[in-house]
Amino acid sequence: MAIRSQEPAVTSDDLVAELCAWLEQNWDPDITVGEWWERLGVAGWASPMLPENAYGRALSRPEAAVVSTEIGKFGALGAPAGLGLLLAAPTIATHGTQEQIDLYVRDIVTGKKSWCQLFSEPGAGSDLAGLSTKAVEEHGEYIINGQKVWTSGGQNADMGMLLARTDPTVPKHQGITWFAFDMLQPGVDVRPLREMSGHALFSEVFLSDARVSADAVINGVNNGWAAANTTLMYERAGLGAGGSGGGFGFAMPGTKAGHLDRRVGDFVPKQDGGQPARRGRPQQMRGGAAGLYVGLAKGNGRFDDPNVRQQLAHLHIISEIGRLNGERLKATRAAGADIPGMANIAKLLMSDIVRLSRDVGMQIVGAQGMLQTIDPEKQKVLDEATGNPFLSGITASALMSPAPSIYGGTDQVQRNIIGERALGLPKEPRDDHIKPFNEVARNK
Ligand SMILES: Cc1cc2nc3c(=O)[nH]c(=O)nc-3n(C[C@H](O)[C@H](O)[C@H](O)COP(=O)(O)OP(=O)(O)OC[C@H]3O[C@@H](n4cnc5c(N)ncnc54)[C@H](O)[C@@H]3O)c2cc1C
Repeated sequence: MAIRSQEPAVTSDDLVAELCAWLEQNWDPDITVGEWWERLGVAGWASPMLPENAYGRALSRPEAAVVSTEIGKFGALGAPAGLGLLLAAPTIATHGTQEQIDLYVRDIVTGKKSWCQLFSEPGAGSDLAGLSTKAVEEHGEYIINGQKVWTSGGQNADMGMLLARTDPTVPKHQGITWFAFDMLQPGVDVRPLREMSGHALFSEVFLSDARVSADAVINGVNNGWAAANTTLMYERAGLGAGGSGGGFGFAMPGTKAGHLDRRVGDFVPKQDGGQPARRGRPQQMRGGAAGLYVGLAKGNGRFDDPNVRQQLAHLHIISEIGRLNGERLKATRAAGADIPGMANIAKLLMSDIVRLSRDVGMQIVGAQGMLQTIDPEKQKVLDEATGNPFLSGITASALMSPAPSIYGGTDQVQRNIIGERALGLPKEPRDDHIKPFNEVARNK
């Protein structure tokens, strides 16, 4: 049931031919989003890296990327985006029973249910295994009490990937269970948190005597750490089971967003003349992150500023290092080997690229960078006043720029991992991983 990680040469001609024939037969802009995703998911095109018994096609990562691009080129709506497809589906496909796959993964690939990740807690983020949300067994179900935080998309989620402590008397990694948890029940209080971008992408989630059936345990009671590591591996890989939606257009999965019953054709942008626009990278995106900002600097008359030029060169260099590292890793893996720490290095580099992009973007737009709104009407006024249609994108990404250095393991944690696992430096002295969890000193 393992998902393929090796990357054989893409036999894209046959794949594209099969997919295009399928799209010709099945894409219909006049059906609903729910009907379209039902067709896409059951045919294995929504999440093609999943194994065949889990509504996938066991494709490699490059093959899955071809699928996503071709759906976009065809002008059809892509797969249901979100953490269900990205994290929950590959975790359940790897560790769940066939019954669980049919119950949970089917609803993910067909967009019927949306998922959130109930891992982090106020006292357990970097030290995730220190989590203290409790799950106590009672007559075939578990009673859940505790608090989660940073829950992306919690407000719209039907289901949650819940990590809870089922045995506090054993060392911390050994007493954790991974549950497929129903968010829409009494005892689940989702409170949105507004971040500095103005949006409320996250929530804190309070669990008070909430319930989950023993049948919803994935990978066995007290075996949740292995399943959690699979989830985290897909979080770091960023592509999960073959794409976080990809394709073209955008609609939200799940019962709460209200998109499933709407006409699917309304979710794909149209070119003049009513034909679906073909996807392609905008001119200014060529050349990676630096290419985008070169275009912006030229458009804003800042391209001759030596400070801006210096930062653009730096941005280009680190983006190229990232790209070449990726190529090197791909070639090494194709030869059956690995480069320890490369995933962590890539994540650190991404944090740097995002921070530098923020700085150079702000330098280019100057004082206009202080003008920001998430209200579409006010945005129109701002666009007119500044005459700069890219400003909102620049300020929005600047306000989100701290995120990559935190999610999926902070920069400091990545450096620890590189130090300990790649460079072989000594670990910090600790005994919390061998002591029973309830004997480890911690803040109450
Ligand atoms: C955009 C975004 C989306 C997220 N979405 C989700 C989600 O959907 N579900 C979910 O469960 N969580 C989510 N998270 C939470 C994320 O996983 C945690 O924020 C992250 O693991 C860090 O945990 P923490 O915030 O508790 O910080 P802490 O672990 O308390 O860390 C605080 C500081 O101490 C440093 N630190 C901690 N331990 C060490 C150490 N051993 N050595 C050196 N320095 C250390 C950290 O680097 C950091 O600077 C999201 C976070 C972000 C930013």
